[in-house]
Amino acid sequence: MKKYSINNKSDIIEFKGTLLSHVSSRQPEKHQWTEILIYKTEGGKYVVHRIGNSVRYHVPEEDGGCETREGRLVSGDEVPSDFIPCPTCDPEACHDDDFLLYDYIIETPLSSADVADTPSDVRKCLLLGNQLTGLAYSALQEAVRKDQSLLGALHRRVWVV
Ligand SMILES: [Zn+2]
Repeated sequence: MKKYSINNKSDIIEFKGTLLSHVSSRQPEKHQWTEILIYKTEGGKYVVHRIGNSVRYHVPEEDGGCETREGRLVSGDEVPSDFIPCPTCDPEACHDDDFLLYDYIIETPLSSADVADTPSDVRKCLLLGNQLTGLAYSALQEAVRKDQSLLGALHRRVWVV
């Protein structure tokens, strides 16, 4: 079994276990996407890990840019080539000729995780409102292939009278 360390906001969740599934909603034209990973720990619990990715970058707020979610300050030559300029503060137009002389904020991934004791808790961790999103459903579907006991989390019983 592999040892994993997962960031849950300011905590780090550590365990030995197996990765059951890893799905991503990434699409080439989108600057934001989500990843869901489901692990089973050596003790038989589950860890549901969500990563919110973004490849957008901004002008820092103090230089007239927008207020951003979590990010990292980098110099102009450190902005990764696949990053997309924010349409609101428009870093490329803002520092047109001397782009490399300025600093920018690149958005960094947001990572959160839940520990679930049972398959039905795994389902609860994945719900958005009252629904499983398409991505959450694929994550469960993939996990079921490696762990049949999760089948109950994929299909809910609904009693109709
Ligand atoms: Zn911006």
